Formats: sequence, C-alpha cells, structure tokens
Amino acid sequence: MYSLCTGCARRIALSCRALTRFDGIPALTVARTVPRAHNRGMLSYQHIYHAGNLADVHKHALLAWMLAYVTRKDKPLSYLETHAGRALYDLSADEAIKTGEAAQGIARASDWFDADDPYMNSIRQTNEIHGQTAYPGSPLIADILLRDGDTITLAERHPRECAALQHALPTAQVRQVDGFAMAHAALPPTPRRGLLLIDPSYEVKADYDDIPRHIRKYARAWNVGIIALWYPILASNTHANMLTTLQNDHPDALRHEVRFPPARPGHGMVGSGLFVLRPPFGLAERAAKLKTRFDLLK
Ligand code: SAM
Repeated sequence: MYSLCTGCARRIALSCRALTRFDGIPALTVARTVPRAHNRGMLSYQHIYHAGNLADVHKHALLAWMLAYVTRKDKPLSYLETHAGRALYDLSADEAIKTGEAAQGIARASDWFDADDPYMNSIRQTNEIHGQTAYPGSPLIADILLRDGDTITLAERHPRECAALQHALPTAQVRQVDGFAMAHAALPPTPRRGLLLIDPSYEVKADYDDIPRHIRKYARAWNVGIIALWYPILASNTHANMLTTLQNDHPDALRHEVRFPPARPGHGMVGSGLFVLRPPFGLAERAAKLKTRFDLLK
C-alpha cells in the first residue's frame, strides 16, 4: 500500500541522528511494542491512527519547507514542539490500516511533490533507515532536516508515546510534561533563532479557548521565533472562535487552510489549518501551490 520509495535509485546521505540507537533495538519496533499498561486512561489520542493522513501531509510538508528555509542560513537554531507524538510511525500497523487515513493521505499525495522537496527527503531517509512502511512524525522530520549544532526540545505527555519518542530520537531533549507549560518555560530558547510547533490533539476542548492566550505569551517571550499552530477544520466550526482571536492578536500571521473529504462518512474533520507567526519569506506561495493539489481531491 505504502510504496513511496520503490524504485528510488538515489542513495541519501544518512545524516539522521535517529540512526543512533542507544540499545540496539530498532526504533520502529519500540514504537509498536511499548506496553499499553502505562497509559492509565489519561490521554486516549494516539497519532498512529492518523499518521500520514491529509492533515499530516499539509502540516508536515509546510513544516519541512520552513525548516529547509531556516537552515539555509549558517547559524544554529532551536526547534521546539509542544505535542510531539512518537516521531516514527509504521503505516503497516493495525491501527493505521484500520482507519485507512494514510492510504487516503501520503500514499495518494506523494507524487504531488518534487523528488528533492524537503518533505520527500525526510520520508525517503526515514524509509532508508526504518523500512518502506515507516513514516516520520514532525520531530523526526525536524531531526532529519536540522544540523548538528541545532537543538531539539520536545514535550509529549503520554507515557507510551514519550518512551517511543525518546527511543526514536535519543539526542533530542524529550520531556514527559505538558507541552504548553514546557514552551512557557523554554522561551526564549538558546539559540534564539528557530521554530516552535504547537500541534495539540484537541482532546481537551478548553485548548481552543486557551491557545490564543498561550500564543500571545509565547510571541512576547520570543520576539524572533517562528511560531506555528496546527488546527483541524471542523464541520462543527468549533475552531472558528480560536481563529478569530488569533487573527485579531496577530494580524501579520499567515493563516493557511486546505479542505479535503472526511476520512469516513460523518467524520468531523474536513480540513487542516496552519497559523504561522513570523512566516518565512515564500511560505505563502509554497502553501498556495500545495493547496492547488488539495483542491483537486474528491
Ligand atoms: N506533532 C506530531 C506529528 O505531527 O507527528 C503529532 C502529535 S499528535 C497530533 C498530539 C500528541 O500530543 C499526542 O501524542 C498526545 O499524546 C500528545 N499530548 C496531548 N496532550 C498533551 C499535552 N498537554 N502536552 C504534551 N503532549 C500532549
């Protein structure tokens, strides 16, 4: 089903820091086998059901583009993520097959991109290291595209996801804490240049009310950072008030949205949004080009 790199002759330099496996167990195996008993019902969302879906394609393609852009300058930077997930997903896992979201997502969208697109590069390197059904979450995309002097700081509150994340990215600073609190404590980071990705699962409905307040403080604390928020476009319009507030607070930010058919009949998510403070030059054009592909989806 997921055969992105079949026939790809080009060997990629395997610079990914995820190659360093501290105990010799393949990271993809850990992602599958960390026991569920650690999840005491605190959080139920698991990104493996949704990895590689059309929302991931939107978010990950633009994230990869931004990271490629900011690493053009020969100065170190900080990458931070409030809701990291496990970083490495196996799209042949039962959970991914069950929803079929990757089949409707990256499996269909991979030919939307040039072979040297940074998102494609990160998928290809992931496949080279972890196998053809592996898919990189945002922390792994960052790990692949960033350089040795850059720093990666990640929060993931779910114990099982956090254990898998730590295993997949042994050189990143991984914290099993609330991501919003982590960012408040970490900003401004050192190095000062960089990007913060906020990618909540929105399991807690209060997130929609709280996020503008968090972002206002992040933007004040870190006056040079790129701050990117992912949000779902919901048929119920639950996200709408949050966006109105964000736009009033940050009139110069880029709001980019794509629509797609729901993953299943009646499924509430009908699109994907990215709200970016201090967007890198050219992001709006790149995003508009990507949207033309989404617009053709049936
Ligand atoms: N950013 C990831 C990617 O694109 O590959 C996907 C992240 S997934 C949408 C959201 C993650 O946030 C889940 O793994 C969930 O366990 C975690 N999470 C939920 N609430 C959290 C919180 N308050 N702080 C940190 N992580 C949280």
